[in-house]
Amino acid sequence: MDCIFCKIAKKEIPKDFTYEDDEIMVFSDINPIASTHLLVVPKEHITDFLELKNDKLFGKLANTIQKMVKKTELKDKGYRLVLNGGGAQIIDHLHFHVVGPVGKKVKM
Ligand code: AMP
Ligand code: ZN
Repeated sequence: MDCIFCKIAKKEIPKDFTYEDDEIMVFSDINPIASTHLLVVPKEHITDFLELKNDKLFGKLANTIQKMVKKTELKDKGYRLVLNGGGAQIIDHLHFHVVGPVGKKVKM
């Protein structure tokens, strides 16, 4: 399967990870929209958010997002979580965007 995030997960494409464990990888978006723009990505190829049926993995992803917000100190500076799905996504491999700092005024 020609999936860039699977290739990153298998280390076929080199990438500096902000965080990594057996199931999850976090790296900076190649085209950031804010000074912090991380992608929190399961290593398993899950095509769309609606295909995420593993509650344990969902919990781990949420926990990792919390860790990343704390690690980057976005906690007090304003952060935004974005998930594109149902065709709004460019890459068909589940990923959460963690973006900030963002103010109150700019809404999606
Ligand atoms: P989405 O529209 O939610 O599918 O977003 C895909 C994101 O992946 C975009 O923000 C891209 O900039 C980002 N992206 C694409 N290729 C790479 C890559 N090789 N490394 C890091 N981020 C990437
Ligand atoms: Zn994939």
